[in-house]
Amino acid sequence: MAPTSAFNLQTCARKNILQLVPYRCARDDYKDDGSNILLDANENAYGPSLPFNCPDESEAGIGYDYTHLNRYPDPHQEDLKRLFCNYRNKNPTKPLTPANLFLGVGSDEAIDAVLRCFCIPGRDKILTCPPTYGMYSVSAQVNDVEVIREPLDLVSGEFELRPDAINKRLSEDPTIKLVYICSPGNPTAGTVDPEAVRKVLAHPTWNGVIVVDEAYIDFAPEGSSLAPCVVDHPNLVVMQTLSKAFGLAGIRLGAAFTAPEIARLLNNLKAPYSVSSTTSSLAMAALSPAGLAVKNENVRRLLVQRDRIISELPELPGIGRFLGGFDSNFLLVEILDNNAVPNSGVAKKVYEQLAEEHGVIVRYRGGEAGCTGCLRITVGTEAEVGRLLKKLRETLNAVRGE
Ligand SMILES: *Cc1c(COP(=O)(O)O)cnc(C)c1O
Repeated sequence: MAPTSAFNLQTCARKNILQLVPYRCARDDYKDDGSNILLDANENAYGPSLPFNCPDESEAGIGYDYTHLNRYPDPHQEDLKRLFCNYRNKNPTKPLTPANLFLGVGSDEAIDAVLRCFCIPGRDKILTCPPTYGMYSVSAQVNDVEVIREPLDLVSGEFELRPDAINKRLSEDPTIKLVYICSPGNPTAGTVDPEAVRKVLAHPTWNGVIVVDEAYIDFAPEGSSLAPCVVDHPNLVVMQTLSKAFGLAGIRLGAAFTAPEIARLLNNLKAPYSVSSTTSSLAMAALSPAGLAVKNENVRRLLVQRDRIISELPELPGIGRFLGGFDSNFLLVEILDNNAVPNSGVAKKVYEQLAEEHGVIVRYRGGEAGCTGCLRITVGTEAEVGRLLKKLRETLNAVRGE
């Protein structure tokens, strides 16, 4: 499919970013073969100040020599990028390559980097589709960028994207530079129809970029990721993270797949050493065949527990419908009042009592568009789900019996 898009990077990206000369280090000029002495970066030649012996590569078993923590990390992370590409590659004739990638401190850095790349503070805007992830508007506010909101379909309870309504907004306002779409959605848990995304990508006059945030994509059916599509679209950014399915929220690693031209701008504007060497070594271990096997097994186990919640939660008194979809490691569920109507006041009380009296923390989402009476519940281990179901039953009885 030949993309027909009005996108032009030279007029869409900020002029100061297009003109940016990226920071270069001496090691960009002279690759270290291990035999050089490195007197270029003002590091500490005697090594890391750690009160224990750092394991070397063989001891740590994760492909990284911890005795080298005194050195700045590799700013380009080619090996890690290649692993990420191999993981996502679906199309052998047009494969993703490291030139398609930006790596950041979680996808939160990628969300912010795209905003800074395209939006002139005080002038440009982004469009989001509530209910959605809160960081898009936080990042916009930090950058003095206005947020235009075009909600998902709030009527059906399925929270579908409304591409015609989005396209109308984009036609009306050329200062909207970015559209942030979350798929699977947070808090909606449903995967966005790829045809709906294509409809926005095919906008005939809009000069902007579509960001698809796939933080939960590895809980969705195999093949759902739009990452392989960035080779066909000059204005698509697909974000992923190791924080969710890979269980590595603590290392802070996010990725953005996009056209090489956009990836170059994002890499030029980022702080060169934002991804630490410990983070990239652990990320490489996670994306190795053995790491992927662990991830797959943990995802499988979580999906068993997700199915258990889907079947057992509706048996509790005062549980309404699941809203949205079932493509993530959390569920969005309605809490009902005694008239069987979804009620945010009741949901808020359940949320508070569950936490304060039972030590079970879920997320109250009743204030979000189309989420009246809703709690967002993360799928836990088998034992955690057992405790959740037990404590939620007690709490619902107590709150609704009042
Ligand atoms: C959790 C989450 C992220 C992850 O952000 P990181 O900075 O990579 O941890 C991104 N987007 C959405 C929608 C999320 O829910």
